[in-house]
Amino acid sequence: MTALKADYLIIGAGAVSLAFVDAMFSESDATFLIVDRHHLPGGHWNDAYPFVRLHQPSTSYGVASRPLGADRIDTAGSNKGFYELASGAEVLAYFEQLMREQFLPSGRVQYFPMCDYLGNGCFRSLLSDQTHEVEVGRKTVDGTLFNTSVPATHTRKYSVDDSITCLTPNELPRAAAGFRSFTIVGAGKTAMDVGVWLLDNGADPDSISWIVPRDSWLINRATTQSGPEFFNWRVKSFLAQLDASASSNSADELFEKLEAAKVMLRIDPNVAPAMFHYATISEGEVRQLQKIRSVLRNGRIQRVDPDCVTFANGDTAPAKPGTAYVDCTARAVEFGADPRPVFDRNRISIQSLYSPLVTLSASVTGYVEARYTDDETRNRLCAPNVLADTPAEWMRSFLGNLMRQKMWMDEPVLNDWLSANRLCPFGKKADRAALGAPSMKPVARRIAETAPAAAMNLQKLIMSGGAV
Ligand SMILES: Cc1cc2nc3c(=O)[nH]c(=O)nc-3n(C[C@H](O)[C@H](O)[C@H](O)COP(=O)(O)OP(=O)(O)OC[C@H]3O[C@@H](n4cnc5c(N)ncnc54)[C@H](O)[C@@H]3O)c2cc1C
Repeated sequence: MTALKADYLIIGAGAVSLAFVDAMFSESDATFLIVDRHHLPGGHWNDAYPFVRLHQPSTSYGVASRPLGADRIDTAGSNKGFYELASGAEVLAYFEQLMREQFLPSGRVQYFPMCDYLGNGCFRSLLSDQTHEVEVGRKTVDGTLFNTSVPATHTRKYSVDDSITCLTPNELPRAAAGFRSFTIVGAGKTAMDVGVWLLDNGADPDSISWIVPRDSWLINRATTQSGPEFFNWRVKSFLAQLDASASSNSADELFEKLEAAKVMLRIDPNVAPAMFHYATISEGEVRQLQKIRSVLRNGRIQRVDPDCVTFANGDTAPAKPGTAYVDCTARAVEFGADPRPVFDRNRISIQSLYSPLVTLSASVTGYVEARYTDDETRNRLCAPNVLADTPAEWMRSFLGNLMRQKMWMDEPVLNDWLSANRLCPFGKKADRAALGAPSMKPVARRIAETAPAAAMNLQKLIMSGGAV
């Protein structure tokens, strides 16, 4: 056992740990020791499928101090007209450069890849079994609570006959050419990426079947754009969310209003989605996915045999011989997890504060740790927010975001820091100036009037069980 020292011991070198360290790095002179099982920083991006891209524009993902991408607007493809979305490889390179060019040369960061954290300040090398003990000067920071699960590393919860090919999306580009029939299993963003990939690469829509346990509401990517050319979209969509929140009697009604305002999208307009996981998509991608007509909505599958798919509810559906199944059932992050205090004496548990922006949340947590001195104030500023699993939970998540936005903007030092933080979608100086223009006065007034009504109605709906 060898002994090491650092002010902060960081468990995990994923996006949230790195965003936390980055914020503290600029705001303090603390030292950090980061431990991770992966061989490169970036967490689950090490295991990403080759055609994955960020859901949201690169401009607002990663760590605060380092831009990701070049603020380009795509001129071709399904993201045409919107800010670029980094690929998995770009995200991984970004975090690797952050570590190599910024963190390690400072002498303030020690990084131990390929190591398993064991608890009580101890970790073990996965290659030599050598164990290290860290003397932690200040705090241990847990950056693993999102418990990310991706197709390449998760365990399938259904069985597949030995004669059947069941691929991960990671294997699809190499293996797809050998098949003329595909079944996508799962209905989250990975499944949508696989559907779009198959169609963009020439698969006949009628050669694709899709097992959809739950339909999902989807965020229209147009509402997540940050540049000045999208200012009107941002204002319009924020106001639409306030209006719908203030005037609806249920989550279903609220989402139908958001759909009418083009804030939310769905793939099948005849099905009421039961899921909401912040999947973000363009209208073009939705149109692509609508070409898949064989959609099986019998819940989760239990077993795949050469001639038949059996669902957990006992239903069966005939299967085409020679089909490649693509497993997209990993759950990405832990939606609806129980919150815990972020600051608890000598432990920090990074969670979502402003959902779903987990890197912004981690960055704020790092800033608050560095700039505020007592845990009561820190926990007030960093109350965990829900990561929604259902449309009803979106109400809690949106209300939580509204409350944090107001609280953070009321805190002058934090507000100043946030207005210059590239990860933060609100409070930018340019947006404030644009909203202050005489022509925008009526809109600004409507926002100011509607926000309290929205918060009040959401609270009422949540209390009455509408958000359970
Ligand atoms: C495909 C995909 C796309 C996404 N796109 C976006 C997006 O566009 N925008 C957005 O905001 N969010 C997005 N997300 C959400 C995503 O969860 C976050 O962006 C973020 O990458 C999660 O980072 P993390 O650090 O919480 O988790 P991880 O990336 O899982 O990192 C945690 C790290 O901790 C390590 N670890 C865990 N336990 C131990 C242990 N005992 N010892 C040592 N190491 C340990 C793991 O090896 C891992 O490297 C996406 C998620 C997925 C899966």
